[in-house]
Amino acid sequence: MSKVRVDRVLHYINGQFVEGVSGKRFENMNPFNNQVLNEVAEGFKEDIDLAVQAARKAFDQGPWGKMSVTDRLKYILKIADLIETYSEELSYLESLDTGLPISQTKKMAARAAENFRFYAEMVKSRMVGEAYQVDGDFINYTIHKPIGVAGLITPWNAPFMLETWKVAPALATGNTVVLKPAEWSPLTANKLAEIIHEAGLPEGVFNVVHGFGETAGASLVAHPNVRLISFTGETTTGSEIIKNSADTLKKISMELGGKSPAIVFADADLESALDAVVWGIFSFNGERCTANSRLFLQKPIYDTFVEALKERVSNIVVGDPMDESTEVGPLIHKKHWQNVMNYIDIARAECAEVFSGSIPDAYRAGNYVAPTLLLNCHNQMRVAQEEIFGPVMAVIPFDTEEEVLQMANDVRYGLAAYVWTSDIKRGHRLAQAIESGMVWINSQNTRDLRIPFGGTKHSGIGREGGHYSFEFYTETQVIHVAIENHHIPKFGKTKK
Ligand code: NAD
Repeated sequence: MSKVRVDRVLHYINGQFVEGVSGKRFENMNPFNNQVLNEVAEGFKEDIDLAVQAARKAFDQGPWGKMSVTDRLKYILKIADLIETYSEELSYLESLDTGLPISQTKKMAARAAENFRFYAEMVKSRMVGEAYQVDGDFINYTIHKPIGVAGLITPWNAPFMLETWKVAPALATGNTVVLKPAEWSPLTANKLAEIIHEAGLPEGVFNVVHGFGETAGASLVAHPNVRLISFTGETTTGSEIIKNSADTLKKISMELGGKSPAIVFADADLESALDAVVWGIFSFNGERCTANSRLFLQKPIYDTFVEALKERVSNIVVGDPMDESTEVGPLIHKKHWQNVMNYIDIARAECAEVFSGSIPDAYRAGNYVAPTLLLNCHNQMRVAQEEIFGPVMAVIPFDTEEEVLQMANDVRYGLAAYVWTSDIKRGHRLAQAIESGMVWINSQNTRDLRIPFGGTKHSGIGREGGHYSFEFYTETQVIHVAIENHHIPKFGKTKK
């Protein structure tokens, strides 16, 4: 795989790979060594305008907007096949670009391909209307229609997965797309454009504009011809996007940050709970929206559980993301590394103890943060309230169910939660009382594609996945037809 060349990355607009209008480029950094990996065309309003124009034309004038569902789905299935063909390359590019361990990016392509097939199936069965006969006089029927140009804005953590979560339902339902991927992870978005090009989608149906949020992203959000924005990223960016999309009244979907609790009761299966919380915070380098970044431990098991955690943390393999045995790789970017390190400094002042694993000396040039436990913290501390988004977990003791529920909910986020107990009634009781979009009881973060994904409070608006994405990317129109004469008020006929 090291033979894959990482060239200059260009925008993909109207079926062609092109430089930006300004000709400017920015440098994409390798998180493993902070060397320049490649250059990327930098997009601005002018590039977004061209991409939206192409997408609008493909939607309005066809062939995409006018294509039969059957024909459209042939392209969707072709994309799925090609993603599988290039799965090894996709995994390599993702790990190179983001620092995610290769063992963890490997399944990503298969899952993305599955998602394209999933939405092809769903569109086949759901892109049909219903008819109603009302009192014999009328037939009313509904049809599901694509909305138009979809603006998709995505983050740098697990970028390919998150991009395809949006692109698959958006295209399968018949919209055209302008994707603005995160500036720190352009490589797999570029490969997706190559795949879609190879699949032969008509020009303008799928477009990618690279660049920064405040310029390219903001122009997409404000564009009058973009009908919807699906966004995944930070909560503050989400608020900004909601404000900026208000004037053009866009349909929006927001998948935002998290500070998810894992709650372990003394009666839980502690070995499984340990496996799950370690995976839940340290997989994907801790750069995971559903990470259990707050761990609540019931007091009787606090000391023994923390000892076991320390042993695991000491043994986690920190290494080269391209090495199969690596469990934690470097963080995405020096700036993000600095943020995470600042939080560890804050924790040194706030929490009773900071316990970290180690980073081999050979990797000092990269953005490595050793897996870290912040011990005996309090839920009100900054490190327990703010999203750190790295391999860092705040550990908090608790006494009772009532107390832990209050602490679990006392945070502005509400994305995921994990409850570990052998008392199944308590598991359900607590799960239903926790303010979060998703709760796993005695289980680790897994998700079938049919199941909704998303958060509440400051973690998001709406749900992705399953039929939720189908509904987001379609409009339901109702058509009324009279089949019998019926009374119509005759305004203007009575005055002489
Ligand atoms: P970010 O908000 O900084 O950037 C996300 C995207 O938004 C990027 O493409 C960026 O260029 C763009 N952007 C930034 N400012 C913009 C603006 N003013 N207008 C339009 N676009 C703009 O987020 P990030 O740092 O890339 O990603 C990490 C965040 O994403 C974390 O908070 C994480 O929890 C969240 N996340 C949430 C989910 C979820 O499903 N809830 C999934 C993954 C990541």
